[in-house]
Amino acid sequence: MSTVPQRVSPSQLPALAQCPCYQASRKPSPAADRGGAQHRILSKWIKGGCVGASGDLNPQETAQVRWAYHWIRQISDGQKVEVDVRMTLKDARGVQYMSGSADAVVVPYLIDDDESVIQIVDYKSGEMYDYHRQMFAYALMAMDKYRAGAVLVREAYGRYEKAAPPYRVAREQAQESVMEVVRAVGDPKREPHPCDYCGWCENAGRCVALGVEAEKIVIAQGGLFSYDPQELARNPEELLRAYKVTDYVTAWSEAIKEWANELFVKQGTHIPEDTGYYVQERKGSRGVKDVTAARAASFLEPDIFDRACSVTFGKLVEVYGVECGLTEKEAASAVLAELGGLVVRGVPSKYLAKKRGKS
Ligand code: SF4
Repeated sequence: MSTVPQRVSPSQLPALAQCPCYQASRKPSPAADRGGAQHRILSKWIKGGCVGASGDLNPQETAQVRWAYHWIRQISDGQKVEVDVRMTLKDARGVQYMSGSADAVVVPYLIDDDESVIQIVDYKSGEMYDYHRQMFAYALMAMDKYRAGAVLVREAYGRYEKAAPPYRVAREQAQESVMEVVRAVGDPKREPHPCDYCGWCENAGRCVALGVEAEKIVIAQGGLFSYDPQELARNPEELLRAYKVTDYVTAWSEAIKEWANELFVKQGTHIPEDTGYYVQERKGSRGVKDVTAARAASFLEPDIFDRACSVTFGKLVEVYGVECGLTEKEAASAVLAELGGLVVRGVPSKYLAKKRGKS
């Protein structure tokens, strides 16, 4: 096993703890982009000391960031708040092997070594997961940077406008947890383990461990192919055979999800503690139920207010159909005839389709 720490990113630690071969996908992610936009506005507001312009955030995103801003003010209780704090970890030889930025650090006015507790704040725009290893890494870096004896970790989930219970982290505990993953990543004999993060992994299409799982299904379905990632890369026909498997794997996984959702979420069946699953409540998205009344109640000029409104073609066709007694096709023609060039199409996209009747 390698004794040289590998360069890893704190945000990848939760995934690497499950599979040491995980590699973050390089594909652009709309969810990550929106999260980045929220982080930038939150950082700007904290630096400015007040809620200000919200850039290109939509009203829901703005409300989430506003909640986080006020929550950070509350927990900082007048102490100094530093934002986008760049921090590093170095090994015994002074070689840097980890770096990252904490969204915010609440720094007490007096840092008195072992007695001082600083607070690390991490804003999450997505789902609630187990992020403790990432936070342990930030905690270690913060202890080095601020020469503090312990760190209080604060995770804020904008989507739920909810903070996780804070937890105190000591150096030995954090060190052991982070180094366990760093050592596993540096192990030349490391093996991939299919896990919760395969869906976000750059290696997923070529991963033999994941392919073995797929192969079990394929063999059960009549042995369409023998899984070989290299063969898939050079043989388009073999790739299409593998693609065919996704039809029934997707159908199966959606059916299982629906079944589990019905049992645990709708019927409230008890979930055993050690499975790691739980039922999370997500706040419904906010919307305006009466646009005319909202426009009249708003202090904005009507034409400015209208910039926040959108009309879908399908809904407009439905309203035309009901109001004018038209079939869907007639209503669509009427909308196009009356609104003409005001109706626009989104950017076209392509996808892999299957000819009807072809097995
Ligand atoms: S796809 Fe393979 S390498 Fe990636 S996380 Fe899953 S098991 Fe690990």
